[in-house]
Formats: sequence, structure tokens, C-alpha cells
Amino acid sequence: SMASPALLMRVVASAYSVAEKAATIVRNVMSAGDLGIVEKAGPNDLQTKADRLVQMSICASLARKFPKMTIIGEEELPTDDVTEDLIEDGHCEEILKKPCPAQYTGIKEEELVIWVDPLDGTKEYTEGLLDHVTVLIGIAYGGKAIAGVINQPYYNYEAGANAVLGRTIWGVLGMGAFGFQLTEAPAGKHIVVTTRSHSSALVNECIAALNPDHVIRVGGAGNKIIQLIEGKASAYVFASPGCKKWDTCAPEAILHAVGGKITDICGNSFQYNKEVKHMNSAGVLATLRNYDYYASRIPNTVKESLVP
Ligand code: AMP
Ligand code: MG
Ligand code: MG
Repeated sequence: SMASPALLMRVVASAYSVAEKAATIVRNVMSAGDLGIVEKAGPNDLQTKADRLVQMSICASLARKFPKMTIIGEEELPTDDVTEDLIEDGHCEEILKKPCPAQYTGIKEEELVIWVDPLDGTKEYTEGLLDHVTVLIGIAYGGKAIAGVINQPYYNYEAGANAVLGRTIWGVLGMGAFGFQLTEAPAGKHIVVTTRSHSSALVNECIAALNPDHVIRVGGAGNKIIQLIEGKASAYVFASPGCKKWDTCAPEAILHAVGGKITDICGNSFQYNKEVKHMNSAGVLATLRNYDYYASRIPNTVKESLVP
């Protein structure tokens, strides 16, 4: 008989379904028309009804199934009185059938830290740039991002009414990543993807120093990692504080699962233990291939302006 699936695979399989429920909430809030926008730190740091409902849905659903995990979500909201209609208790059978990488079979519930960005790309969501939006569930163990789920609720939304709307990308270190077609960026071209709504003089100075052939400005950390793994961009460069651990955990796990690399602008790897500072103060540098090329061209003046 089959041994029962390892905890990590059960968490990933549940996170997959929880992220699909989240995507439905994101679409429903938008089609209902009342986004309930609240400014957090300022006009470029927004929260909508979708951010709130999805955070409660994800955190309460995972906490109910895996009560000993640490779950850290972006929004500061209670999870104790979440209504039953927000709870997802399903899981993805296909994920459960896959063998857990040997180094992770012994993981215990209390050793996992889950980083949740209920809606990444909120600014773009409020502006109707719907395919920039993702739902991010990152899974960390021993301070490392080891698995992640990225749901893109509006994938295909410009393809017409007959196209299937939305997709779920997931990955585990040592196993790979699924739900998309891994594609390399055009060889010999330097295509940088960066922020659309959180630019600064330093962000632009850093990009200019890389002398890119093309710059893509889009919202969302999840969306930018998708640009890398689908070959639309060769480097994600963000020389600014602003990105948090819930923005990078799931994207990092998926990028690393397919052989990519993500660090801060200075080259330091990110830590995801529960005590860590939330802010990625020294920005983001990520690539699927040729990390060293980009890292070696970040000016020292830029590195010195960003203190981890
Ligand atoms: P962006 O590339 O601008 O979409 O940023 C990626 C993620 O980091 C999103 O979740 C943003 O909300 C967050 N972020 C980046 N810069 C800032 C900032 N200056 N203030 C608040 N959030 C930020
Ligand atoms: Mg975010
Ligand atoms: Mg968010």
C-alpha cells in the first residue's frame, strides 16, 4: 500500500486549491464593482475588498487544516471570525500523487512558515490591468523558500470569452515547477522587467546602467517572475525598498525550482524564517539565466544606497 503523502505535498496540494478559491474571490469582487479601496501607507500602497477577503480565505483555510504552521499574510486582519463561505478545504489530487523530494519528507507542520500575498499588484488591479495580478502562497522551511503557488486570476482575459480564464503555477525545489511552459528569453538580448507604479531615480539609474535593449514596466512581483520563466524578460531589477517577504517567497521557490536565481540588489539571498524583517530593503535582482551578467553590472553606487 502507498504511504500517506508527505506533509509538504499535502500543504502544496491544499495551497493550490486555496489559491484557486482566492482567484474566484478576486474576480467576483471586480465584477461586483465595489472595490472598497483603502490607502495604507499612501496612494501607491492600496488595499481593496479583494485583498481583505482573500487574505482571510487563505489564512483561515490553511490554518484550519494545518494549525501548527506559522502563516504570515500581508494584510493586518483577524482570521478568527472568518465566514464559512470563505473556507476552502479541497486539494489538488495530481500534486498529492507526486513523490516528495527526499530532503523534505521529514518536515513537521510547526517547521513551516507560509508567506501570503493575497493580491499582488493591487494598484494595477484598481486600474484594470488585470493580468498583472497574482495570488502568492510561499512555503518556507529552515529559512528557505522551498515551495510556492502563484495563481494568475486573469490569465487569458484578453483572449476572448471562450478562453479559460486564470491559471495556477506551482513548484517545489528539487521537483520543478508546473502550470506554464518554461521558455528562455531571446538570446543576446537584455530585456529588463521592473516596477510600473513604484519607480524612483535610483530604480531608473540602476536600469540605465544595465544598458538594456528593452524595459518592460509591469505591476506585481509574481507577475514579473512569470515574465522571467516564460521568456518575456531576462532580468527583474528593482533597486528600491518596498517589496516584502510575501512578494518574493512563492516567486523565489518557483524560480529556483527551474534553475533561476533571486537575491537583493547587492547579491544577498532572502531569508524566510518567521522572525525575519518583512521588508526587502535592498531591492530585488532575479533572472532565469545569466544572473552573474546582471549582478556584475549593478553599480556600486546603487548597492551602497540600499542597505539590507
Ligand atoms: P511593483 O513591482 O511596483 O508592483 O512592486 C512589487 C510588490 O512590492 C508589490 O506588492 C508592491 O505593492 C510592493 N512594493 C514595491 N514598492 C513599494 C512601495 N514603494 N510601497 C509599497 N509597496 C511597494
Ligand atoms: Mg505584493
Ligand atoms: Mg498584496
